[in-house]
Amino acid sequence: MTSHPTPLQVLLAAPRGFCAGVDRAIEIVELALRQYGPPVYVRHAIVHNTHVVADLEAKGAVFVEDEDDVPEGGLIVFSAHGVAPQVRRNAEQRALRPIDATCPLVTKVHLEARDYARLGYSIVLIGHAGHQEVIGTTGEAPEAIMLVESVEDVSALDLPDPERIAYITQTTLSVDEAAGIVDALKARYPNARGPRGEDICYATTNRQAATKELAARAEVVLVVGSAHSSNSQRMVEVALAAGADAAHLIEDAGAVDEAWLDGVRTVGLTSGASAPESLVTGVIWYLRDRPGGAQVTTVDVLEEHMSFALPAGLRRLPVQSAR
Ligand code: SF4
Repeated sequence: MTSHPTPLQVLLAAPRGFCAGVDRAIEIVELALRQYGPPVYVRHAIVHNTHVVADLEAKGAVFVEDEDDVPEGGLIVFSAHGVAPQVRRNAEQRALRPIDATCPLVTKVHLEARDYARLGYSIVLIGHAGHQEVIGTTGEAPEAIMLVESVEDVSALDLPDPERIAYITQTTLSVDEAAGIVDALKARYPNARGPRGEDICYATTNRQAATKELAARAEVVLVVGSAHSSNSQRMVEVALAAGADAAHLIEDAGAVDEAWLDGVRTVGLTSGASAPESLVTGVIWYLRDRPGGAQVTTVDVLEEHMSFALPAGLRRLPVQSAR
């Protein structure tokens, strides 16, 4: 009698994938393309996902890293990560026609930075150097903002007035790591002021909570997302910190390494806030097609009902996009 291999147990996280800010940013580019026709220039990857960018490029979007690369008078979309005020001024001087796809939750952090700077505070920005969002937020008050990436950076801070210190954070940090940095900051500067709510956004927080749940129940966790996606990278770290034997960031099903699944009975599957659901479906089909197949169970951790309004001037058209 031939023995059949046992199906792989696949635990699928909920929530996962697109957040409201990413959904809105992609819709903005698609609507701009339909309403105004190509080319629509997009400053920086609209969201940090290679497949999303390639899909929009195929529809006529042109991605540039600098507003100076857009011909005078051209239509320019600012990405979900936000831009510094200097970029807006430069675009205006060059008579570009801007459409702002900055996530409203990133705008909220910009406004906090602006307010604290106006009140004369030194602002500690907890985030990752070089990330588009950090570059944009820093541009709100470059003379007042100091970037802190770790607890060690907090020890090295030398701030002029311990009574006028505030902190803000990037929206896509590890919740636990950021809490450690805030604790260290408050230990040094007990009167440091922080955001009324969280700066780390609901989508980052929820995806990390669901990833922890996967890590507690699966040996290996797969996170679908691009290598340059901050929130996806954090999900891999969170899975490892929460006890998964291994966690891998994969662009799509083609990136799954069979060696990772050798002897494994349960795999957790999730996706970052910028990863399309079709890529997750592709991974499920890949796992189902392996010898023994796969049984998929959804792990419901939280429900999400967030959506953001579109910028004025863009109207939803009756034809739905096929993404
Ligand atoms: S991850 Fe959060 S801050 Fe970033 S676009 Fe999504 S909702 Fe907005």
